[in-house]
Order: sequence, then structure tokens, then C-alpha cells
Amino acid sequence: MTTANLKNVSKIFPEHVAVNDISLDIADGEFVVLVGPSGCGKSTTLRMVAGLEQATSGDILIGNKRVNDVSPRDRDVAMVFQNYALYPHLSVYENLAYALRRRRVPRAEIDTRVKQAAQSIDLEDLLERRPAQLSGGQRQRVALGRAIVRQPRLFLMDEPLSNLDAKLRVQTRSEITRLQQALGVTTLYVTHDQTEAMTMGIKIVVMNNGKIQQVASPRDLYDRPANTFVAEFMGTPPMNLITCQLDNDSITPSLVADGVKIACGGEQEKSLAAAASDGALIVGFRPENATLVDDGSLADMSGKVLGIEELGHETLVMLSNASCAFTIRLPPDAGARVRPGDRLSLSLSRPKLRFFDAASGDSITLD
Ligand code: ATP
Repeated sequence: MTTANLKNVSKIFPEHVAVNDISLDIADGEFVVLVGPSGCGKSTTLRMVAGLEQATSGDILIGNKRVNDVSPRDRDVAMVFQNYALYPHLSVYENLAYALRRRRVPRAEIDTRVKQAAQSIDLEDLLERRPAQLSGGQRQRVALGRAIVRQPRLFLMDEPLSNLDAKLRVQTRSEITRLQQALGVTTLYVTHDQTEAMTMGIKIVVMNNGKIQQVASPRDLYDRPANTFVAEFMGTPPMNLITCQLDNDSITPSLVADGVKIACGGEQEKSLAAAASDGALIVGFRPENATLVDDGSLADMSGKVLGIEELGHETLVMLSNASCAFTIRLPPDAGARVRPGDRLSLSLSRPKLRFFDAASGDSITLD
């Protein structure tokens, strides 16, 4: 087991900065999920840790030792890719044993390690089969098994579940987290899927445009996003964002936009006034932090219903007004009471409101 650290690491391809000065510490035994949209630099980061890509600048440490110039083979890491890359002509047993044979591990030890790995991921009955005789989920387990038998210091996983169907993905992701906890191997796991990141990660690293946007727990990313990118990327549906002006002229200062008037408490408003650039700021609220009110004069905002999605356990209602389009989450029975074209009045939960700088998109913390 080991730690891994990236210190000011960049990867610059000709005419393209794929990874831009990122620093990250992964503790011994930790499971860290790297998430971000396609092209944000996740795989390049992982490949630099594996040694498959040379960093342009910065230091990569595994077990407190700089490994920039160490070959992939000598870094003692095991990678699991989205395409399983199994040897089609070898049995599951031989696929698992392959890397150990190449390292001239004694035959008896190979046998023990292969059988232990097969047991831990429920492959014992499939050891004689070839990859073509396995389902997608079973092949992915073999790919995991190949990483496990090597007993590496570090697991690097690059979208290992994206070839599986939705049900199998849910099942396999809990198997991976269980296995990682049981083995205690330090793991860096890459995905573009925010739901996967939220359900698997204890520590999540959100990347965009080659830069780390925030490192936090799922709860903190959801409740306290560092900027508007994280607010919209994490959570389905995303956080609603409205650009408002700070109106200090009325008796109760408020945040206003067309169809929006959010009265602020005294102290809160003072802090916001100090933080807002040119009196403008972005207000964010999650879909579940809005409630319907009958009396429009008590509402913080209103909107016309564009569409309704009844999902069984909840109802999502899509609305718009002159300043924004937004989504709210209502109880399951709300679908029967709300119709497209209705105008709804809404009250927003004050403690759950988030504020962002209108120019930079960075979170404004009031405390
Ligand atoms: P995805 O989820 O689609 O795999 P990613 O976040 O893993 O995306 P990377 O594969 O790390 O993204 O790529 C980051 C950026 O670097 C992309 O814009 C990509 O086109 C570019 N890139 C990757 N490899 C090379 C290369 N060998 N030469 C030039 N540009 C590259």
C-alpha cells in the first residue's frame, strides 16, 4: 500500500494543454474518484501516474518517491481500462496468471494468488472459460481480477464500467468499492459520470479544462460547490442558477431579476453587497429547495411550467420566466396538480441558497 501525490503537474500536447498545473494528495488506502466532462484531462492524469504519458512539468510521487522517470513496469501500479483488453485465446485462469508468469513468480504462488483473486470477485466457476464465453460483466470482473492478482501498490481505473449496461454498472460499482475497502489498496478511479462519482467516492476530484475545480466529499460538492461549474456538473438535475442584481434601495434589500425577488436578511445582504461585482451575483438553489406557495405575494420567484417528468418517487417540473429556465423537485403526487402552461409561485429555502460571483463564477462564502 502507498500514497500518491501530484505536485503542480501539467501535460502540454502540441497546441493543447490537457492538464494544467494540478496538485493532488492521495492517502494510503484512499479511494479517490476523478470526475469531469469528456476531454477535461482525467485519463491523461491517470496515464501520467501510470507512466504511460510523460508529464511536461511537475512531480509525480508514489510512496513518497518521485517516479517521473521510472518506467510503467517498475511503478508497481495496476490499471483497469474500459475495454477489458483480455487475451482472447487464454482461459480466465491464464488471463489472471499472465502478468505473474511474466514476472517469473513461482508456479505454486501463482496458483494461490489466482484462486484468491477469483474467490474475491466470484470467478471461481469460470476459470476454465475463454473471454468470448463470458458476459460483459464477467469480463470486466476478469479485468479487475488481473489487477488484483498483481497485488500492486496502486490501482488506477479508467472508466472501468462504461461498457456495462445500467443495471450491471450499479452492481459492479458496489463490488468495486467493497473490494477496494477489503483490499485497502490506494485507488484512483476515473469516470465522466457524476452519479457514479457521487455513489462511489468518499473523496471526489472534479476537473474541467485541465484544472481541478474542487476536491470534496459527495455531500460537500452537492451542498457547497466551489463554483458554478461544479454546481451544474454535480447533481441531477443540476443546481439552478439565476443572475440577480442586488437591490439595496427598497426597505428590505433583495436580489432581483425578472420574475425573481428574493428578500435578504440584514447581515446576509451586507456580506453579499461587499462580495457582488457591480451589484450582480448568481444565486443557486437545488431543485428540492423550492416549495410551491399559493399566495404570490409571499413568493421569491415565479415561472411558467414547460414540462413535467413523473419519475415515480418524485416529480420534476421544468419552468421558465423572463430571466431563467429552472427545474424543481416536487412530491410524487404533484404531477396530478400541475399542468404545462400553469404559472407557479415558489418560495426558496434561505439556508440552502448558494451565491456565486457573477464575473468569475466562484462561490461567495458568507461565513
Ligand atoms: P474522456 O472522458 O473523453 O476520455 P478525458 O477527460 O479523459 O476525456 P483526456 O483523454 O485526458 O480527457 O484528454 C484531455 C485533452 O487532451 C483532450 O482535449 C484530448 O483531445 C487531448 N489529448 C489527449 N491525448 C492527446 C494526444 N496524444 N495528443 C494531443 N492531444 C491529446
